[in-house]
Amino acid sequence: MESEQNETGVLAGDERMLIDGELRHTASGATFDVIHPASEQVAGVATDGTVADMEAAVGAARRAFDAGDWSRDVEFRRHCLMQLHEALDRNKERLRRILITEVGCPVTVTGSQIEAPIHEVAHWAEFGAAFDYLRYNGVHETPLGPAKRVLRYEPHGVVGAITPWNVPLYLNVAETVPALMAGNTVVLKPAQLTPWSGTELGRIVAEETDIPAGVFNVVVSNANEVGAALTADPRVDMITFTGSTATGRAILAAAAPTVKKTLLELGGKSAHIVLDDADLGSAMPLAAMMACVMSGQSCVLPSRILLPRSRYEEGIEGLKQMMENFPVGDPWTPGVMQGPQISETQRQKVLGLIRDGIDDGARLVTGGGIPGNLPVGYYTQPTLLVDVDPNSRIAQEEIFGPVLTVTPYDTDDEAVAIANNSIYGLSGEVSSADVDRAFAIAARMRTGNVSINGKSHFGINSPFGGTGQSGLGYRNGTHGYEEYLHIKTIGMPE
Ligand code: ADP
Repeated sequence: MESEQNETGVLAGDERMLIDGELRHTASGATFDVIHPASEQVAGVATDGTVADMEAAVGAARRAFDAGDWSRDVEFRRHCLMQLHEALDRNKERLRRILITEVGCPVTVTGSQIEAPIHEVAHWAEFGAAFDYLRYNGVHETPLGPAKRVLRYEPHGVVGAITPWNVPLYLNVAETVPALMAGNTVVLKPAQLTPWSGTELGRIVAEETDIPAGVFNVVVSNANEVGAALTADPRVDMITFTGSTATGRAILAAAAPTVKKTLLELGGKSAHIVLDDADLGSAMPLAAMMACVMSGQSCVLPSRILLPRSRYEEGIEGLKQMMENFPVGDPWTPGVMQGPQISETQRQKVLGLIRDGIDDGARLVTGGGIPGNLPVGYYTQPTLLVDVDPNSRIAQEEIFGPVLTVTPYDTDDEAVAIANNSIYGLSGEVSSADVDRAFAIAARMRTGNVSINGKSHFGINSPFGGTGQSGLGYRNGTHGYEEYLHIKTIGMPE
């Protein structure tokens, strides 16, 4: 692949799937369109894979796991994944253009979507090479005499990875590379809106690494049945999924008959508790910025701001200032921080929820519609709704748009109760001048992750997962790696 360093502009990705080492189209030749959300134009197509294609990919992954050496040769896995890391790095600018083309992510904020996953491939290669797969667990007395116990960490087998469209390359890597390094074989099913971040990964694996045929497969399709076929297939041992809670429930149900291991990272409706001693001058601009970057299309976003009544108007003013001056526009323009929503369907969902919030009594402070200067592209104004009833739809449903809701509270206990009034439990935030006080509030939040005073909880070395209906299991950290392994306990003579 020639270097495309410093080029910008719409770029179509590879149309083909990767099945059993072969880059190919579906048999009928059918394709589906990929739209650039900033222009609303078709940027290219991807092959429209079928259930038969998915079955072929699962068969290939099964054979590669059962008959190949992949699960047994950790040094070879490290070699292949370091090759992948280097190949992704060589393809970095091409991948960036393809990402901006299919997601509409602003070029200025692509670091977390391009550089971060490329780095993570190398991290998992080294982490997995150093991991202790065989552990001594002591000698135990039994009625038949002493028994030595050894723990053997083994791959599950075939892992099905289903990914969403908001951070597609990052999640394609986060869901498949630790699985591969742990010795599993993988079938990746990327989201319909962002097939190329998956097909490009497949192309690079096939053309630029020694990863054997069948070990890594990518099936793209415009039909949800193709993902559903992966979740139900008895030859698949584990499903790892990131996406909506509704789809997560369907996957859990589909995986039940064959009792598959599932790792689910689902929706969120995270709260940001602003305590009455907080530095609003720094907390409010940061909160507003986080809501707008990625157009609010982030599961961890603390989208419910809880402000103490004593500082209510001051907090609202800080959010409003940032939102009204936020650089929204063409994702190819350096400095722009918020691009379009990914599709018209998503934008209409966001606008519908905003209208519902107003109907339920919320006060619109800024935004609420389509920016007048951006008639083309799926843009949404940064939107601030205040006086939001914590039981209303806009306070309960994930919006996935550049929208913050604000609800006042009187006591810390009330703030915690409002924060915990959710089916979700993904992340949260606390702002306070007193870190101990903030920590005590963080401990009471029913959620998997909390940031205090803007200090991020998220990173490759720290487990990340949700409670409640936000998910099952962890990504990242040692816990995240161990999700892709089961423990075989062996009792044996001393
Ligand atoms: P959204 O609704 O925002 O597009 P989803 O959570 O529905 O997000 O989709 C995330 C991923 O799940 C996509 O790859 C999609 O194709 C896939 N998917 C959707 N429905 C199913 C299903 N029933 N079984 C398996 N995968 C599915």
